[in-house]
Amino acid sequence: MWTDVRPAAEMPQLFERGGDLISFAGGLPDLDLLPLKELSEQMGRLMRLGGRIALQYSTPHVAKALVPAITDLMAREGGRTDAGNLVPTAGSQMGLLAIGLGVAVPGETVLCQTPAYPGAAAAFRTAGLRLHGAPEDAGGLDPQALPATVARLRAEGQRVRMLYCNPTFQNPTGATLSVERRHQLLDAAREADLLIVEDNPYGLLGFDGRTVQTLQGLDPENVIHLGTFSKVFAPGLRCGWIAAPAPLAERLRRTTEVMALSPSAFTQAALAAFHARSGWDALIDAYRERYRERCGLMADALEDELGTDGPWQWRRPDGGFYLWLRHTAGADTRRLALAAAEQGVSFVPGTHFGLDGEGGDALRLAFSNVPRGRIAEGVSRLAAVLRGAEAD
Ligand code: PMP
Repeated sequence: MWTDVRPAAEMPQLFERGGDLISFAGGLPDLDLLPLKELSEQMGRLMRLGGRIALQYSTPHVAKALVPAITDLMAREGGRTDAGNLVPTAGSQMGLLAIGLGVAVPGETVLCQTPAYPGAAAAFRTAGLRLHGAPEDAGGLDPQALPATVARLRAEGQRVRMLYCNPTFQNPTGATLSVERRHQLLDAAREADLLIVEDNPYGLLGFDGRTVQTLQGLDPENVIHLGTFSKVFAPGLRCGWIAAPAPLAERLRRTTEVMALSPSAFTQAALAAFHARSGWDALIDAYRERYRERCGLMADALEDELGTDGPWQWRRPDGGFYLWLRHTAGADTRRLALAAAEQGVSFVPGTHFGLDGEGGDALRLAFSNVPRGRIAEGVSRLAAVLRGAEAD
């Protein structure tokens, strides 16, 4: 069974620091952009003036002061919510497990967009759920094929109630589902009596600043939406939220209370203070610009090194952290990952994102946290290994 959340747990060679390794493996934000001095002043002030509250237990509700900061973020992608729909989490990873434990019933099947973020698969499996690939074609999730897939699984006796997806700048492919498909998916899901779980860590990181309306914004009554501060702020604060229809939000609050009693009042207060003072625009714009530049450098280098009509194919993403390469004739990217690490460059093989370890013909490159001056060298090392695969 495939349950590792982090590629590092499975293939530590790809992450060992030191030496001269250029890592395209970890999907880490570039925290150089955080205004640390401003933050430390705000956090110090928070301690002095409200430390006894910020360090106390709280309740499984989003802190009042943080609600406007979340609704501001969600509205940028056409999301609709208020405090009654929000459940605080220690990041979307916790949210995924809470959904698996609190909304689904053990033994049920979750349809999963694949390749999938492995943490989602691991969370659902940990909650005792089964996974099945959602129907997809070249345009991504295929709403037209959904009714037949669901009917077939149900005829086999499987209880199918949720569809998990990451529709914007997906981890690991970087792909975004079109607006037209979003509408069709939501219609098909309602028709098939399926709840949609929308995981959305990257939606605000479109390189040109444009956003696509979230599934939650289009159908708030049938979508459970996972949001997080990990990619628009910092993952170390471990702060995120679930926006769900009110009755499900209440169930999720009870589940998260069992998991963690209450969220961190301190990190919520720190984020609320930052939003009140500075808003989100400057930081999110800086992140977007940084990732746009890095993605461009990586894609240009790939074009130079591998060409555009060779066996390795990829699409330039419009946002997020990742580039996804596929070998059209099939390749063993697990073996290539080990060979690449020996040459001083790392990536995550596609097998890590398959529900059952499939996907060995593809690999994920993260450009988000590679110093700009190291990208071309990393791609050059990578291309030497990938070209070697063709000669095999
Ligand atoms: N979902 C997806 C698609 C992710 O890429 C990640 C982090 N890499 C998470 C959820 C978990 O994020 P966090 O727990 O930091 O909010």
